[in-house]
Amino acid sequence: MKLCRFDDGRLGLVEPGQVRDVTAALDVLPAYRYPLPPFDPLIANLDAVIARVRTVASHAPAVPLRSITLLSPVANPGKIVCAPVNYQKHLDEVRDNAALHHHNTATMAPIHTAGLFLKATSSLVGPGQGIALRKVDRRNDHEVELAVVIGRQASDVEAKDGYGHVAGYAIGLDITIRGPEERSLRKSPDSYAVLGPWLVTADEIPNPGALDLRISVNGDLRQSSNTKYLILGVPELIAYASSFYTLNPGDVIITGTPEGVSPIQPGDVITACIEQIGTMEVKVRAAGGVG
Ligand code: MN
Repeated sequence: MKLCRFDDGRLGLVEPGQVRDVTAALDVLPAYRYPLPPFDPLIANLDAVIARVRTVASHAPAVPLRSITLLSPVANPGKIVCAPVNYQKHLDEVRDNAALHHHNTATMAPIHTAGLFLKATSSLVGPGQGIALRKVDRRNDHEVELAVVIGRQASDVEAKDGYGHVAGYAIGLDITIRGPEERSLRKSPDSYAVLGPWLVTADEIPNPGALDLRISVNGDLRQSSNTKYLILGVPELIAYASSFYTLNPGDVIITGTPEGVSPIQPGDVITACIEQIGTMEVKVRAAGGVG
C-alpha cells in the first residue's frame, strides 16, 4: 500500500494518477495526552490504519495527484538518522574534492568508522512544500537517498532481524550546505530533509537492496545508482543504529547518497525517483520567499 499525507494533514491512498482521501481512517488512532509518546502515532498504529483504509477506500473521494500538496508521509519522527558515506563511489568523490570534505576527517572515513549522524526533525518537509535554501552564497547540494521508516521499536537488533522493524520506504533528500561546520548544523535548516512522495509499505518492497535511484535538476541527470551498491544495507543499518540507541516507530533512516552530488540554486526543480517507490518533484527557492 502507498499512503501519503497531503494538504492540511489529510491521509491519502495513492492510486495511479490519483489519491483517495482516506482521512477518516485516522479515527482509529488512540488519543494521546501530554507527555506525548516518543514515536509517530500514525506509524505506530499503521496496521490498524491500513485495515481501516481498506474498508473506507471504495467510498472515499478521489482527487488528482497533481492537484494536491504532498507532505512528509511521517509527521512526527523522533529522529532522522543519516548514513554519511554509504556508497564507495561517493566516498571516493568526497575524498577527491576539498569543496566536499573541507578537511574534516569524519566525512572522509568509511561508514564503519564515521558512524551515523542526525538531522533535526524540524528540517523535515514533504515534496510539495519545497526546499528553502539558506546561505545561498555557499554551495548547497542535493543528495538522493533511500529512506527507511521504522515500524517497530528496535534496540540492539541483529541484522538478520532488521527487516522485521521496517514499516516502509520513501525517497529521502538530504540537502546539505557544504562547509566546515558540524554536519548536524549544515544539514538541518528548515526544509533540508525532504521525505516523499509517500510511504510504500514494506510488503511491496521485499528487497530494498536492488532499487535504481536517480535525481535530476532542471532535467539534467545528476545522480544515478542502485541500492545494491550500499556498503551497509537496510538491515545492517538498523542493526548498527540500534546498537547505539533505540529506534522508535516513525524514526527515519536515510541510507546514504551515491556519487554525483552537485549544487542547487533557487529556482531549480528537482526530480527524484526510486524504483518501486515513485517519483517526486521538489521546487527550490531562497529562504524568506525570494526566488
Ligand atoms: Mn546524505
